[in-house]
Amino acid sequence: MLAMNYRGPYRVRASHKAEPQIEHPNDAIVRVTRSCICGSDLHLYHGLVPDTRVGTTFGHEFTGIVEEVGPSVRNVKRGDHVLVPFNIFCGSCFFCQKELYGNCHNTNPSATAVGAIYGYSHTAGGYDGGQAEYVRVPMADVGPTVIPSDIDLDDAVLLTDAFPTGYQAAEMGGIQQGDTVVVFGAGPVGIFAAKSAWWMGAGRVIVVDHVEYRLEFVKNFANCEVINFKEVGDMAIHIKRMTDWLGADVCIDAVGCEAAGNAMQHLTGVVLPLQAGSATALHWCINSVRKGGTVSIVGVYGPTFNAVPIGNALNKGLTLRMNQASVKRHLPRLIEHIQAGRVKPGEVITHRIPLEDIGDAYHIFSSKLDNCIKPVLVMPT
Ligand code: NAD
Ligand code: ZN
Repeated sequence: MLAMNYRGPYRVRASHKAEPQIEHPNDAIVRVTRSCICGSDLHLYHGLVPDTRVGTTFGHEFTGIVEEVGPSVRNVKRGDHVLVPFNIFCGSCFFCQKELYGNCHNTNPSATAVGAIYGYSHTAGGYDGGQAEYVRVPMADVGPTVIPSDIDLDDAVLLTDAFPTGYQAAEMGGIQQGDTVVVFGAGPVGIFAAKSAWWMGAGRVIVVDHVEYRLEFVKNFANCEVINFKEVGDMAIHIKRMTDWLGADVCIDAVGCEAAGNAMQHLTGVVLPLQAGSATALHWCINSVRKGGTVSIVGVYGPTFNAVPIGNALNKGLTLRMNQASVKRHLPRLIEHIQAGRVKPGEVITHRIPLEDIGDAYHIFSSKLDNCIKPVLVMPT
């Protein structure tokens, strides 16, 4: 089969790989029908995630048709069209029982913190992902969800990660009626966080980025205010000026670590080495939120950051919340939002690129070329 093949930072290509096999009675093999590239994949692509091994296949946002199931799988069968949450989870451990599926204890024996994720380095379990014609889906009884017949595939594939992650970002903000919510990052995750914030009672939603076409998109999609951070001086002062000098009630980090070419570089003029990344958005969150406010972090951080203003956070009495999204927990509610016509997540898809051109797909998405917001890979026919 054709599959994405990681060769090192900024080097990915499609190459032929053996098709995955059932390795455990709980496995399914899924033929991929939609597979996205995520901002999280860019952290891998930029070489920012530890233990990302050459030869592995990324991809944790996919839908597909079940081709084969192991002998103990009961909840899905050959021919089912499923969406597969990015978390690989057992459904029964201490954490899964609390619906903390992103923190499953059984599927990633190599880590104490993160659960397992498809195609997300050996730090997250070393499973191959779905940027391929076929993928092995472990614990197939708990993750994969049959796509309701009235949900189209473009909407379904956004339910595997970006939409629930944005939703959870807003949820972790603990938004109260009338709150001002500032979302840093106008990628798919930030876009869905902004949209979701209204459902939770926000009175004002402001999204910050520097990519003009993304700000334009989110302004329409989520009916929010936008700030291009290149056009403001001190971010915290700017937000305070907009909020009677109190600061925002809730700030959301939907950026995470970024390689060189990011906001820190823009602000300081210093070109950062690849491994340095930046936690600019996190700084801005902590400094722009009001005293007693909440910072909700879903942006992913590969490297360790020592420069987070934790003293400020303490002095302001902030609540910091963060996690990998627990995708499956949100599905019933988010499917309802789609069915009620309140959101059409598939609208964030801007590009359909053949799997064999995966190198171009990563380059376009990483460099924000051609107004790219969300690329979907087209499988060979
Ligand atoms: P993306 O790369 O498409 O979007 C990130 C956006 O942030 C870009 O538009 C970029 O221009 C903007 N940006 C960069 N620096 C900024 C700054 N200082 N302030 C404001 N905006 C800034 O990524 P995405 O797919 O939207 O994902 C966003 C983040 O969420 C990533 O870190 C990703 O790894 C993470 N993520 C987390 C989870 C989870 O479960 N916690 C799931 C999916 C994605
Ligand atoms: Zn993702």
